[in-house]
Amino acid sequence: MSNESLANLLKEERRFAPPAELAADANVTAEAYEQAKADRLGFWAEQAKRLTWATEPTETLDWSNPPFAKWFADGELNVAYNCVDRHVEAGNGDRVAIHFEGEPGDSRAITYAELKDEVSKAANALTELGVRKGDRVAVYLPMIPEAAITMLACARVGAAHSVVFGGFSADAVASRIQDADAKLVVTADGGYRRGKPSALKPAIDEAVAKCPQVEHVLVVRRTGQDTAFTEGRDVWWDDIVARQSAEHTPEAFDAEHPLFILYTSGTTGKPKGILHTSGGYLTQAAYTHHAVFDLKPETDVYWCTADIGWVTGHSYIVYGPLANGATQVMYEGTPDTPHQGRFWEIVQKYGVTILYTAPTAIRTFMKWGDDIPAKFDLSSLRVLGSVGEPINPEAWVWYREHIGANKTPIVDTWWQTETGAMMISPLPGVTETKPGSAQRPLPGIAATVVDDEANEVPNGGGGYLVLTEPWPSMLRTIWGDDQRYIDTYWSRFEGKYFAGDGAKKDEDGDIWLLGRVDDVMLVSGHNISTTEVESALVSHPSVAEAAVVGAADETTGQAIVAFVILRGSATEDENLVADLRNHVGATLGPIAKPKRILPVAELPKTRSGKIMRRLLRDVAENRELGDVTTLTDSSVMSLIQTQLPTSS
Ligand code: ATP
Ligand code: MG
Repeated sequence: MSNESLANLLKEERRFAPPAELAADANVTAEAYEQAKADRLGFWAEQAKRLTWATEPTETLDWSNPPFAKWFADGELNVAYNCVDRHVEAGNGDRVAIHFEGEPGDSRAITYAELKDEVSKAANALTELGVRKGDRVAVYLPMIPEAAITMLACARVGAAHSVVFGGFSADAVASRIQDADAKLVVTADGGYRRGKPSALKPAIDEAVAKCPQVEHVLVVRRTGQDTAFTEGRDVWWDDIVARQSAEHTPEAFDAEHPLFILYTSGTTGKPKGILHTSGGYLTQAAYTHHAVFDLKPETDVYWCTADIGWVTGHSYIVYGPLANGATQVMYEGTPDTPHQGRFWEIVQKYGVTILYTAPTAIRTFMKWGDDIPAKFDLSSLRVLGSVGEPINPEAWVWYREHIGANKTPIVDTWWQTETGAMMISPLPGVTETKPGSAQRPLPGIAATVVDDEANEVPNGGGGYLVLTEPWPSMLRTIWGDDQRYIDTYWSRFEGKYFAGDGAKKDEDGDIWLLGRVDDVMLVSGHNISTTEVESALVSHPSVAEAAVVGAADETTGQAIVAFVILRGSATEDENLVADLRNHVGATLGPIAKPKRILPVAELPKTRSGKIMRRLLRDVAENRELGDVTTLTDSSVMSLIQTQLPTSS
């Protein structure tokens, strides 16, 4: 970014107070902010008591060698024991841990007692396959219970898992297996996707051919489709896991023992292998899940729609909810199979009370129409969450109105693969929410917005989001590359973690995320946020979704180019484009008017649903496309290219 801070353009005046009943009985009240402010480390030491330690930690944070943190370093625990066994020991073995809903309509309820047996058997099987403490296991599975069971079994034996989204190409899988040096791969014959079985094993066969260190491939039978099998290397889950004992004694590991490696989504470039460890990670995953969702494990039914291949699936399907003894829904498939009301049908079927999803999904539901959710009984919902991208105010309001019956609080949670758990979010029983703002750092978290010179911006100012104190679930490094860890996150601003996101503070000091710093546009000397221009476009009744980039321009430095997906009813003509430009001008000011507006049928997204603006910038500037390996559908780019006017 240049030496001018982000322009602060969008004004959003709507406010929503927390519901009185929720506030009266909330897990966390405003006092938590005070406690954490008075004694941040004491606050986290207190939260660590949510876990069951084999050896209680006496140290909280060791920051003697920054930016390499150690949390609760002299404590010992077993993460899987914390997520499973202790709930059974506490008498809650009959509580459902996972309501699994397969895409074809098959379902399966797994209690905590059953989960304990399954995880123990899987842990015994991993041991038989030669997996030892300190090893790495690659996981390439559909959204089925075995994914969570495998992750917990790895944690139980002290092997780090590296989950790779089931749908990445063989090359993407191979590079992740090699980078993590995994000796075992756990996969399935296939999973159900859009109404049909979709094979997974062929990609693993191709990947493993390039990875000689892989000793075995453990294969779950999900679809029953024909599957090539390499004798000696491949093992069916049903053959080896089923015959294991359901007894397995969890060993206690150091709090800093590696728990997993996970690659970032690749929105801004080549994915980075993020390393997370055990005690601090689990403490913050469990605390934030308890606080931000107000989880009441006896009565709530929680559903996070993320894929387990993303950090959201790690922290808010597996570790946070299970550490808290939650009952949750796990869904295998896509939101439109067999019909566009599938999510709402699931909410109704299980009486889901807490729903956690992404802005990309919410914008899609808006596009499909209000009448679809209206056909289902969604009255059980009491807290709605959002994660993954800035949520446009119009999408936020739609979510609250059409899914949340105009009463549920919305928690817009900002965090990253690197942060391991939520960092900035409203608290549902405390915060008066503002559509489009993640608002305040959670208790115990120190975040702010700084300018180019690392000075904190005043209220009303914009700049870069930074984290100013270490936090328990922070990444410990980039796997195998300490220098890249230092360079990427800790070098831009001395002593501060640079998140890579632009942000502003409003007049109350609340934080608004404004998109990636790499995506910020510089127009006639003004830094303008992609998020704000996109939100202005989405607030026009003809626009369902928008992606905005800055393209090199001779007169203004960069010019704003907007790619828009129109709503079904809108027609594309000269007037509409002029109308949209004026709408943005009226909402944000003339400086933010896009120079070009291009209606398109699709936008390029990562598999986690985020818009990849860097590819659109490549298109807008007539360049060759950058890394597309984490794109959902690579044909989208050629579709966009053919739709564009040739001279630009
Ligand atoms: P890469 O780092 O490889 O480019 P990525 O950043 O998309 O990929 P993730 O860790 O999955 O990988 O995503 C974290 C990013 O998602 C954040 O840095 C931020 O840009 C965005 N994000 C997540 N939640 C929110 C939110 N509630 N509001 C705004 N942005 C969010
Ligand atoms: Mg990132």
